[in-house]
Amino acid sequence: MPKRKFGISVEEELARKLDEVSEKLRVERSQLVERAIRDMLRDHSHSLFEHDCRALIVLSCPSEREVPAVGADNLRITQLHEHREGQCVQVFLVSGSSSKISTLLSSLSRHEGCELRYIVLH
Ligand SMILES: [Zn+2]
Ligand SMILES: [Zn+2]
Repeated sequence: MPKRKFGISVEEELARKLDEVSEKLRVERSQLVERAIRDMLRDHSHSLFEHDCRALIVLSCPSEREVPAVGADNLRITQLHEHREGQCVQVFLVSGSSSKISTLLSSLSRHEGCELRYIVLH
């Protein structure tokens, strides 16, 4: 497949970590960036049209910033919750309307100091 070159700017620390991973895995940086973009687009393209969706959401916060129990109308949610080494980790298996899942995600993304990961399962 033809490739297109373009310049991007990223935080210095992110660029340094990319160099490290590239060196350790012996994979070119471009290939790693391409993989990351592909994963990101797959995880977000599902918000382009309404559908029945299933996804995993992982929310990791410092224990003192515990996010209260998550509930959302018309979504089925199965939850794991663990505290270890000062971190509160919650894993949600959610299924239901893609727009309701998007609303849930944007409310979870507002918690400062927390890391949010989202994995589409379809
Ligand atoms: Zn989806
Ligand atoms: Zn917790």
